[in-house]
Amino acid sequence: MDIVQKIREAGIVGAGGAGFPTHIKFSVDKVDYLLVNGAECEPLLQIDKYLMREKSSEIIKVLEQLGDRIQAKEIHIALKGKYKSEIIELEKAIKDLNSRVKIFKMGTYYPAGDEQQIVFEVTGRTVPEAGIPLDVGVIVTNVGTLVNIYEAVTDSKPVVDKCLSIHGEVKNPLILKSPIGMTLAKCIEAAGGTTIDKYKIIVGGPMMGRIIDKESLEKEVVTKTTGALIVVPEDHYMVHRNGKSVKHIINEAKSSCIQCRMCTDLCPRYLIGQKLRPHRIMRSVSMLENNSEILKEALLCCECGICELFACPMQISPRMVNVYLKGVFRENGVRFEKSTRKLTAESMREYRKVPTNRLISRIGMSKYTDFSETKAVILESNEVSIPLKQHIGAPAKPLVGVGDHVEYGQLIGEVKEGLGASVHASIAGVVVEVGNSVVIKK
Ligand code: SF4
Ligand code: SF4
Repeated sequence: MDIVQKIREAGIVGAGGAGFPTHIKFSVDKVDYLLVNGAECEPLLQIDKYLMREKSSEIIKVLEQLGDRIQAKEIHIALKGKYKSEIIELEKAIKDLNSRVKIFKMGTYYPAGDEQQIVFEVTGRTVPEAGIPLDVGVIVTNVGTLVNIYEAVTDSKPVVDKCLSIHGEVKNPLILKSPIGMTLAKCIEAAGGTTIDKYKIIVGGPMMGRIIDKESLEKEVVTKTTGALIVVPEDHYMVHRNGKSVKHIINEAKSSCIQCRMCTDLCPRYLIGQKLRPHRIMRSVSMLENNSEILKEALLCCECGICELFACPMQISPRMVNVYLKGVFRENGVRFEKSTRKLTAESMREYRKVPTNRLISRIGMSKYTDFSETKAVILESNEVSIPLKQHIGAPAKPLVGVGDHVEYGQLIGEVKEGLGASVHASIAGVVVEVGNSVVIKK
């Protein structure tokens, strides 16, 4: 069976982002570059490093197969130069397998793991505004996704578990391998529970993750894209910054935006040459200029948060305004016209990269950087609630009903056509509920 068909059948989606179905990404005939994002975009996160250390041979083997399938002229794994152990493991695997894969060492800056930054760093090409890496002959995939592809190709194993790291105010920060559908409460429990009573949880990285209440821990579950949980005090700086309303931010912009343009000058998308100027957007919303051409630039925002959490001297949040504007444009079917002009990076880009350590300190996360665990703890469960939508596109249609017995790895939800991904049982047991999720009990 063709490798792309195997990827589709295994229900693989991008493990490091919004969950784009991987079989669609690899349904191309020819590319110049196949790039692997091993740069762990967000501060604190550990999973890409863990997988590159533990699964280096698997990663190189499957890269060779994928590279042949899409006729990639070059294959690079882009990761931070400071990942010494991971580089040693990968270089050893490359040598042992006589592979053509190359290692590309990046600086320690944020957001080094943004796929458009990786494309620019490795190839010198800027993805066009509103475009995708394929527009410049590149496919970018992530380390976790590759491991899933390897398992699908060699063992026909679907995506039924996910590695994630647990950080912050927990007794034992660790790496977990959890069945898909396990409650987040069980993950926190596996880390020894919390060290404080009043807390919130960041699901994902500290810059771009979602903040949830502790009451949600029993309702929310591990999905194919969950990468980390960070427990923080409920009065933490990041909780406070996320709690502001858009109305409040616009009022702040009206009264305090000094148009210093630091938000634009440090914006990583602006620095690779795209026309995204958050200071102009802020001027437009605060002056009620209603300049729709400028406001539409918000559609180019990758929501990295540099403008609000690092750049702005007045503590204003252009990112949240952009998120709001994107929602309004989406509702009204407004899109940013894909650009055809040649984009050139800003000459100062190299000097305007945000050092990760300074960022960690700025967002009050320095206390949580110690992380000594190198192996994953395997988590088991007697009950899982597997969402039928864990990806971009349509939810999967359930193929099972209440009372059915399912086997581990069995297909329980499917998307026959269009954008979407299949869903499989992460434990064997009996289906006790089918709604937006399939609940299975042992
Ligand atoms: S950095 Fe802040 S104050 Fe400066 S232009 Fe941007 S929003 Fe305004
Ligand atoms: S969040 Fe701010 S800095 Fe990041 S891409 Fe959007 S506008 Fe630029």
